[in-house]
Amino acid sequence: MLTDSFGRQFEYLRVSITDVCNYRCQYCLPNGYLKPTSKTQREFLSKEEIANAVASFAALGTRKIRITGGEPAIRSDLTEIIQRCKQVSGIETVAITTNGYRLENNIRAWHQAGLDRLNVSIDSFDPRLFHSITGHNHLESILRGVEQALELGLEKVKINSVLLRQFNAQGLEQILHWLKDRPVTLRFIELMQTGDNLRFFEQQHVSGQALEFDLLKRGWQPIARGSTAGPAKEFQHPNYRGRVGLIMPYEKGFCETCNRLRLSAKGDLQLCLFGEQGLNIRNELTNQNHQILAKRIVEYVKTKQAAHSLKQGNSGVTRHLAMIGG
Ligand code: SAM
Repeated sequence: MLTDSFGRQFEYLRVSITDVCNYRCQYCLPNGYLKPTSKTQREFLSKEEIANAVASFAALGTRKIRITGGEPAIRSDLTEIIQRCKQVSGIETVAITTNGYRLENNIRAWHQAGLDRLNVSIDSFDPRLFHSITGHNHLESILRGVEQALELGLEKVKINSVLLRQFNAQGLEQILHWLKDRPVTLRFIELMQTGDNLRFFEQQHVSGQALEFDLLKRGWQPIARGSTAGPAKEFQHPNYRGRVGLIMPYEKGFCETCNRLRLSAKGDLQLCLFGEQGLNIRNELTNQNHQILAKRIVEYVKTKQAAHSLKQGNSGVTRHLAMIGG
């Protein structure tokens, strides 16, 4: 099992398959994706390179793969990528994080290809607010896609919603109503500062603590965290099928339970969402040098820092999260 020098173990790899995104979320790519001028900057890992990466990590103990981006559904070979990941010996769970693009049309094919878990980013359940945050009007179609995923019986369906002072911090009633009869976990993510969003961050960042008090007041109860649990504090309520989660990366001790590594769409292994450029392993992925690759990965993981420095205003080289997949 991959282990860092603080004893944290990593059996979860997030694989970004493109950094292109079709949305213009105000906190991420408010002006849309800007096409790089050089062609090499747009050469993302091929499905063969992705399958090689997953096989190498699986041999080192990785059990869960999350496909992310940019927007992963932009890639026309996404279904095949899901299938290739799922076929790798040792991989138990294949998940995806998407903005819901093509969800309604493709969720059945993704499920058949082996998709176990789905996270969909929906920052507001109000169509007008959804549009002003993302620049798109797709909310209804996305929600139909989520309903389909539930009907298909995916193992887990989650919604990610970034907490924004002006937009969704007041929409709790509507969200809880939606969760009443659906076995979905809705996770509020505190807005994180990145290289590009400083002004927006200063205007819109709001701590999840007020929401936590509100949930407790409404009778929501904290769920004890399992040893392999994700970054969210989760809450349940006897009258609701759904759950609420809070991801609060500015809280003390947040990184102590970090269990994930990241592979960028260009083949950089990254140890932290807010770290440095990472270790480029593309050569080994292309040439299938599994032994050399394993050695490089094991050594590199040992250099992971104890925690990010977001509180000090340092977001590393990360200009926006589409670069690295969230
Ligand atoms: N395009 C996909 C999507 O929208 O889910 C995957 C990539 S996106 C970068 C992954 C997640 O990161 C989304 O839930 C998005 O809302 C979240 N995100 C992006 N920028 C963020 C920021 N500055 N702070 C908190 N969450 C952010």
